[in-house]
Amino acid sequence: MLDAFTYEAPAQRVVFGRGKLSEVGEEVRRLGRSRALVLSTLPHEANARRLSDQLGPLAVGVFSGAVMHTPVEVTERALREVQDRRADCIVSLGGGSTTGLGKAIALQTGLDQVVIPTTYAGSEATPILGQTDGGRKTTLKDKAVLPEVVIYDVDLTLTLPPKLSASSGLNAMAHAVEALYAPEGNPVTSMLAEQGIAALACALPSIVANPTGIGARTDALFGAWACGTCLGTVGMSLHHKLCHVLGGTFDLPHAETHAIILPYAVAYNAAAAPEAMARIAHALSMNDAALGIFRLARKLGLPSGLHAIGLQEAALDQAADLAVASPYPNPAPLDRTRIRSLLQAAWKGEAPSL
Ligand code: NAD
Repeated sequence: MLDAFTYEAPAQRVVFGRGKLSEVGEEVRRLGRSRALVLSTLPHEANARRLSDQLGPLAVGVFSGAVMHTPVEVTERALREVQDRRADCIVSLGGGSTTGLGKAIALQTGLDQVVIPTTYAGSEATPILGQTDGGRKTTLKDKAVLPEVVIYDVDLTLTLPPKLSASSGLNAMAHAVEALYAPEGNPVTSMLAEQGIAALACALPSIVANPTGIGARTDALFGAWACGTCLGTVGMSLHHKLCHVLGGTFDLPHAETHAIILPYAVAYNAAAAPEAMARIAHALSMNDAALGIFRLARKLGLPSGLHAIGLQEAALDQAADLAVASPYPNPAPLDRTRIRSLLQAAWKGEAPSL
């Protein structure tokens, strides 16, 4: 029998398909806006300029200074551009780093955002913003940062290199996995989670083999939307905490860290969340959730352990301390000794044990 539940649907318009970049102007007008500031990272500035040209008089400029983890000093520079150019909306073209900057601007100005994601990170689907100030990363949840419009253009993902596609795809999958054992879990989010995991598990190996295959790219981007929506609607647990600690304190790369940690966090929670495990395994078409994700990551050629992305073994004690420093919901009790063992296994890259 279905349990009672609460589900709050995000107030967001989603446009999905091939060639949808051409509809950005229409979406800006639909919001009643006419002075868009286009955001990107520096390597993607040329794409942002092309988009600005395409928007014509609807664009008032390009700010290409977005970087990973949304440092407040970058946001301040971008806010000056917003003011100088009297922008009345933000158009963010890029991955989670660019989306993060757009959200930080929206938080302070209330401007509408049109986001065109080019990775599978999923930030565009959430009211969550992570920012860094003086090297410290903090996260907030506020409806003001949820983008009004998301335009998923499959064509833009064709250039995402296979390795980045794989790690970004597992970053997305992590949102859905933890949604399946979240305390606020509900049937709508769980349905999306299973679909998101299944879409990515099927699409990512095809993308690694053939990065320009439209079918797999379409499925992966749909999976990224589904998984991102999960992240936006329920709370996350141990896996996201560990990745936050490893990224924030030891500056490890965001998506790869998620890709490495996920099977171990799942194994840690396996006995405490059997129903979620069955649903994850089913979505992966595997017998076991943790081993299924571990094998998928290996098949995709992802880094084999935290050692391979630059973490020193000596950092594991501090990481374990930080992971248990403040309480948060998790199916299995937060036990420092078990978490230290989890980190050791993830550092070496050995198969997760239950
Ligand atoms: P990113 O935006 O930095 O992109 C990763 C890399 O991919 C960059 O080198 C970028 O140049 C490249 N890239 C992006 N799109 C490309 C494309 N189509 N073709 C070729 N190269 C491309 O990082 P990300 O992994 O997308 O996002 C990570 C950031 O997002 C982190 O700061 C993380 O904290 C944040 N995030 C936030 C949320 C949230 O809900 N707040 C959710 C997920 C991630």
